[in-house]
Amino acid sequence: VFSVVLVFIYQNSIARFISSDIDMGEESCISRNESVLYRKSSSPYKPSSYLLSKLSTYEKLHEHCGPHTDSYKRSIKQLKSGRIDDNSTDCRYVVWVAYCGLGNRMLSITSAFLYALLTNRVLLINQEHDMSNLFCEPFPNTSWILPHDFPFKSKFKKFKQKNHYSYGSMLKSNTINYSTELLPSYLFLYLSHEYDHHDKLFFCDQDQALLSKVPWLIMKSNVYFLPSLFLISSFEQELSKLFPDKETVFHHLGRYLFLPSDRVWRLITHYYDDYLAKAEKIIGIQVRIFEDKPSPFEYVMDQILSCTQKEKLLPEVDTEKPIGSSSPSKNQTDKAVLITSLSPGYYKKMTKMYGQHPTKTGEVVGVYQPSHAGKQRSYINSHNIQAWVEIYLLSLCDELVTSTRSTFGYVAQGLRGMRPLILYKIDDTKPDPPCGRGMSMEPCYHAPPIYDCKAKTTVDTATLVPHLREAPEEQRCTIER
Ligand code: GDP
Repeated sequence: VFSVVLVFIYQNSIARFISSDIDMGEESCISRNESVLYRKSSSPYKPSSYLLSKLSTYEKLHEHCGPHTDSYKRSIKQLKSGRIDDNSTDCRYVVWVAYCGLGNRMLSITSAFLYALLTNRVLLINQEHDMSNLFCEPFPNTSWILPHDFPFKSKFKKFKQKNHYSYGSMLKSNTINYSTELLPSYLFLYLSHEYDHHDKLFFCDQDQALLSKVPWLIMKSNVYFLPSLFLISSFEQELSKLFPDKETVFHHLGRYLFLPSDRVWRLITHYYDDYLAKAEKIIGIQVRIFEDKPSPFEYVMDQILSCTQKEKLLPEVDTEKPIGSSSPSKNQTDKAVLITSLSPGYYKKMTKMYGQHPTKTGEVVGVYQPSHAGKQRSYINSHNIQAWVEIYLLSLCDELVTSTRSTFGYVAQGLRGMRPLILYKIDDTKPDPPCGRGMSMEPCYHAPPIYDCKAKTTVDTATLVPHLREAPEEQRCTIER
């Protein structure tokens, strides 16, 4: 009976992974069924059966503890009382609070979700208007959206690192310590790129033992802090069973959590069908320019062209000949280039180049860019919808060229399941080589802790967990922005 149950759980969960036609009891989520039609091949990376059964168990827990259930109502009472009452509820929660651009948000949600999985908590998302209508509900028969009447919502906006009620600040001021007996019913965790030593103690076993007793953890985060969960020895065994291949953590969890809503899916599929579907090969180029170090347009353009030509992704043009002079014109586009960028310049230049001259290989290249918003406006819902459309379109490409340090690109590469070619950071000179293959398809960790909890000293965390490596200089993720 046990094995039959296991097989059922496995089949049920794998079906959700590969977009089955199981009725999830949701209003609708077309992408759950249709996404498989738009991915040219299924992912070669299969989730472990242990992960699938864990997700299935999680779904039941979420259904039991999710918004508006009796357990949730009891937990809210406990939250409001400020004190822990062991008998009041069997549910514990992580509440994720939004912050930064969409890529950052998706990475930190994934980190929060893995934390919830590892600690048997339920993840609830504090979704303001700017994030509505982006994703399907990931868990069946319930919701992951934090209800509007959740107490303390007004505190979320003001929640900054130095707030006296954050866990790190409380440790620092000794308002809380490892022998505190009367713990509060909730704590705020600050896990963002500029978190300090006390905030980062979250990644220590001793702190996890304390936090496990607190039913409500409210987390503000904008980073992919997930790799640090591998530093916590009490999670070690579970993590290695969940993810025998550590390079696929975001790939699996991201594909599981983030299914485009129907509205987003229609935008994705219309664009794909109209411009990309007919090409034999689709090359995605994500150009992200950070304002902290202006990168001259000509430098970046040269970098993109020399990268794509050197790596044989795109052909050179024969500038001696006008278009149509060498080969009969074809209706077929051999290669489609999908450019995503806030600026229209790269698209314009490349369209002109392939529009005026034939390529040396005779291939026909079409260049497309879905939008050019000019500037980041992550507080606007339609802006985030467009960003999600483009991240997803990039994840459907055959080849990917991304910009160093961009979480927008990390999400695309993770969902695609590929190590991209990364355009190296431009300092004062053009980088040579212009780009290089990423070390991993996992998102880069922008703010790793450097503390050995056992030795109570600063350390290179890669010496503790060997697969957590610092990227080489040219690909280095920094938090300079
Ligand atoms: P990161 O700042 O590159 O790490 O990525 P984020 O996604 O966290 O934040 C950048 C935000 O700027 C995105 O979420 C979008 O709102 C916007 N943005 C940046 N690049 C693009 C792009 O190529 N296309 C669109 N539509 N939006 C972009």
